[in-house]
Amino acid sequence: MSTSPAAEAARRRTFAIISHPDAGKTTLTENLLLAGGAIRAAGAVRARGENRRTRSDWMKIERERGISVSASVMTFDHDGLMFNLLDTPGHEDFSEDTYRTLTAADAAVMVLDAAKGIEPQTLKLFEVCRLRDIPIVTFINKMDREAQDPIELLDEIASKLALDPAPLFWPAGSGGRFKGMLDLRSQQFVPFSKNRDEGHPDPVAFGGNAIVSYLDPEEQGELEESAMLVQEASKPFDPKSFLEGHMTPVFFGSALRHFGVDQLLAGLGAYAPPPKAVAAVKSGEPTHVAPGDREVTGFVFKVQANMDPNHRDRIAFLRLTSGKFQRGMKLKVQNTGRQLSVNAPIMFFASDRELAEEAFAGDVIGIPNHGVLRVGDSLSESGLLRFAGLPNFAPEILQRVRVKDPLKAKHLKKALEGLAEEGVTQLFRPVIGSDFIVGAVGQLQFEVMADRLANEYQLEVIFEPAPYSEARWLSGEKADVEDFANKHKGAMAADIDEQPVFLAKSSWEIGYVGERFPKVGFERSKERA
Ligand code: GDP
Repeated sequence: MSTSPAAEAARRRTFAIISHPDAGKTTLTENLLLAGGAIRAAGAVRARGENRRTRSDWMKIERERGISVSASVMTFDHDGLMFNLLDTPGHEDFSEDTYRTLTAADAAVMVLDAAKGIEPQTLKLFEVCRLRDIPIVTFINKMDREAQDPIELLDEIASKLALDPAPLFWPAGSGGRFKGMLDLRSQQFVPFSKNRDEGHPDPVAFGGNAIVSYLDPEEQGELEESAMLVQEASKPFDPKSFLEGHMTPVFFGSALRHFGVDQLLAGLGAYAPPPKAVAAVKSGEPTHVAPGDREVTGFVFKVQANMDPNHRDRIAFLRLTSGKFQRGMKLKVQNTGRQLSVNAPIMFFASDRELAEEAFAGDVIGIPNHGVLRVGDSLSESGLLRFAGLPNFAPEILQRVRVKDPLKAKHLKKALEGLAEEGVTQLFRPVIGSDFIVGAVGQLQFEVMADRLANEYQLEVIFEPAPYSEARWLSGEKADVEDFANKHKGAMAADIDEQPVFLAKSSWEIGYVGERFPKVGFERSKERA
């Protein structure tokens, strides 16, 4: 087998699953791993989570609330392809983490609950995918339960997402009357069995004699008619349109009953894109990094504190963008120029973690480090390449944080900076005064923060309401930004990268000052320089 970086990258499929909580993301993840031969029994994903949790104190929050706070990656080799499934936290308070994870994905599977269609969180995540031109595969889940009319579900995709749905399968009934689905391309009928342990029967020709074992004549007629109708009403699947983000292939199934999952995985293998060239800047000049390039490059999209609270080390998740990475290699961080020898890179296989001997574009490796690596860092052999940064989103909640024991104020600063570097919360240091303002997209982030400050840094903190409700990064000509900052010193702060941030009491105030300073931009998100 060839191991040229280009050939290896071409067999990578790096994707994430997006969904509204409860649509079935965890169940589908597990069943995709099962379909890919990465685990042997259902329950393994949760079990893996349990093991992890027993090792970690701060993850108590996860356990208590039954949500997954941290995102990670699961790699499996199947059918000649390497799949990297990026796991995104489902809870909406952690959407910031999810957004960042999506920057490392080349495709996304959008899971819809067949009874509910597109829900608010689905829409939000879809918008991020669209912003990043990530092609989307749709999986309509829970067909074993009473579902909406599938035609209406397709209409909803078309109208709410402005995306052409192209069904590749068509369901026969739902809930108690769910019989299976018709493969619209091969005209094979895929029968559904309620009894999971038996497995599902093999597909049969829709027009053939064997079909009578699964559908009575009336059901056959209904399926034939509705399949014909939907094919007339929808555009045929066009891979190019899918890759450009205009079309989504639609699969149906029941993740819980492991139905339709093999077909989804095969679809991902056939249609989801391998890694593509990425825009970057090299020594100030715009350039592109192609997966087959010799130089090893990548960017950090997530940093996670180690599960062991006694050790302060962290794991940075590096998405490789080019070259052939080999263990022991030296990589340089672009913005600091620091070099690190990557001696213990980790690959995350479904049931295990292993040292990564080599990895290619599309792969994600975990790099243990002591705070050298931060979210948004670009790594390369030359140290000269910088990828467009990962966005920071304007926090929706701002709070003032104080430490109960004033003697520990110095420690607080370090701890807050550490957590901000990990991307747990955002940190703003007002130009005037000595308070710290922390920002988060959701309330739960503050709880995670308080918990970690107590357990890892032995700091008891108090959160107080901040006099601000909005934070905006300033953009524009340096002189204009400085002029604005000088005139609004009392409302200015610096973020961890020393970039100027305007803290406003309301969005009305932003509009008001914005009118008076038309040359200054007030940005809701910031890409790290
Ligand atoms: P997540 O919040 O999106 O990760 O959703 P989960 O995978 O945890 O699923 C939410 C609930 O829906 C759980 O009780 C699952 O057992 C159930 N569920 C998931 N997929 C299916 C399915 O295909 N059919 C049925 N009947 N239930 C499902």
